[in-house]
Amino acid sequence: MERGAVIRKEARDLRVPPHWDDYAAECRTFRWDDERARLDGLPGGGLNIAHEAVDRHASGALRDRVALRFVSRSAPALELSYAELARQTNRFANVLRSLGVGQGDRLFVLAGRVPELYIAVLGALKNGTVVTPMFSAFGPEPIATRINIGAGAVLVTTDLLYRRKIKAMRAQMPTLRHVLLVAEDGGTTNEPDTQDLATLMRAASDQFSTVATGAQDPALLHFTSGTTGTPKGAIHVHGAVVAHQATGRYALDLHDEDRYWCTADPGWVTGTSYGIIAPLLLGVTSLIDREEFDAERWYTLLEQERITVWYTAPTAIRMLMKAGTALARTHRFPDLRFVASVGEPLNPEAVWWGLEALGLPIHDNWWQTETGGIMIANTPAFDIKPGSMGRPLPGIEACIVEHLEAEGEPARVRVVEQPDVEGELALRAGWPSMFRGYLNNEARYRKCFAGAHQELYLTGDLARRDADGYYWFVGRADDVIKSAGHLIGPFEVESALMEHPAVAEAGVIGKPDPVVGEVVKAFVSLKDGYTADESLRLDILGHARKRLGAAVAPKEIAFLPTLPRTRSGKIMRRLLKARELGLPEGDTSTLEGGA
Ligand code: ATP
Ligand code: MG
Repeated sequence: MERGAVIRKEARDLRVPPHWDDYAAECRTFRWDDERARLDGLPGGGLNIAHEAVDRHASGALRDRVALRFVSRSAPALELSYAELARQTNRFANVLRSLGVGQGDRLFVLAGRVPELYIAVLGALKNGTVVTPMFSAFGPEPIATRINIGAGAVLVTTDLLYRRKIKAMRAQMPTLRHVLLVAEDGGTTNEPDTQDLATLMRAASDQFSTVATGAQDPALLHFTSGTTGTPKGAIHVHGAVVAHQATGRYALDLHDEDRYWCTADPGWVTGTSYGIIAPLLLGVTSLIDREEFDAERWYTLLEQERITVWYTAPTAIRMLMKAGTALARTHRFPDLRFVASVGEPLNPEAVWWGLEALGLPIHDNWWQTETGGIMIANTPAFDIKPGSMGRPLPGIEACIVEHLEAEGEPARVRVVEQPDVEGELALRAGWPSMFRGYLNNEARYRKCFAGAHQELYLTGDLARRDADGYYWFVGRADDVIKSAGHLIGPFEVESALMEHPAVAEAGVIGKPDPVVGEVVKAFVSLKDGYTADESLRLDILGHARKRLGAAVAPKEIAFLPTLPRTRSGKIMRRLLKARELGLPEGDTSTLEGGA
């Protein structure tokens, strides 16, 4: 297919009739109340995420369907049906109740992708307890900081992680009343000041009546990725489940016969909203791989587990690209029918690579910890323009705003009506999964809203909308480079660099310059088989100049073995910049490979 062209969507490519195929009609008729009506609700009018995700199916036609299938290198696959998941989560809810942990109390989970993590998250939600999953690779400091900010009452973790990361810090977490341990060897744990979770679970009843939570009651506390600074704790409510259900249908096209794989760890919002909640709501079977990224393993899983819908991230896609298309070609993916990506801008090159390596284009979508669910997406309902993050989903009103000069004025921003203007991406407030606050930081939360009635949520991302209503990511407001009167978005430069056959990944920063304000500097890592030398550097510089013109192309290119990334896989440009300028690195608690 011609590069630069749009990728035409044909319903037959999906092999099952998609949930929708008429964007304009669906946007016109969409009502959140209709989405809510697809759910059960609790007797008395309440709403609870775990009831909708688990119990609704456990007492219905899907009771024996596999809900979660766990695989790892060292142990046989373990499967939990919807009915079994309901019983296990009931037991966990009873464990919490027996410990005096109730509605509104906070529970943290620190574990790899083990069954107990999923059971604890869903069981706690049934009990009205507010949940925060953390990356198991976090070091002691980031763990303690989060538990303290969130005033965590309960921690579920494994015996090994407890000994390595918590034990010595325990006295510095005064709110923590209970630590429940999972034995990594499957036995019984025996640590002072903790309890063995398996023992508690055996003693608990598998019957539980879900606490009558309301749509506005807090359910989850998610920390942002910390890409631009110290992570913020975003509070989400049970009513978010309405958006998880809607977006699982519209953006991921989940049908209950799907075998779905979300590669995100639950320590990041994607791994919870779309690694736990949305697939269960739609009654699908989810694959959960307990291992870390490995190109050959991932292709094998896609093939052998016969995955039909795959939700992954640009960083993983770039690593697969780095390993070469030949490796992909040693596998076949006849079952795969829909692939989506989130977390960072998806370079057009990666969308085309999907067609070559997997036989399918990759559907980029955009959202944030704060939005709780997918907002802007490429979907089955319209053609893909590679490099665009798609269009706002039904029920979501997005716009581009420009900031007004007169600070302090209540409106602060003006909505830009005409297309192709770069500005801050904003969303009309009111979708069900919108965050309800930053924990302990009301002032920061308020700053996110503008408009005469504070009705616009400002995302902090810059974008433009084209005449067809597609949104194009420019960069984070913090990352935009100002050079000789031009505003340069790092994404455009990075995407051009990625087109060079040697480039595996690229991160671009503005480096202060006395003449032009800032010059563009690129950090590049290479694909396997290329050597970082002067002639390659000049070749990449030349390619960038040809593609972007001298004003926008990088003036400098430095080679790095890998780029610094958050654990959720985002390139940390602020760290590239701090290191370049010899400035303090700031909060690096979410840095991959850090502690
Ligand atoms: P912090 O707010 O702590 O700096 P973060 O913004 O990286 O961290 P997340 O909420 O995990 O934390 O990430 C959301 C951000 O990720 C978005 O605001 C956007 O900058 C980026 N992002 C997510 N998806 C896309 C996408 N499809 N295209 C471009 N950028 C994306
Ligand atoms: Mg953010």
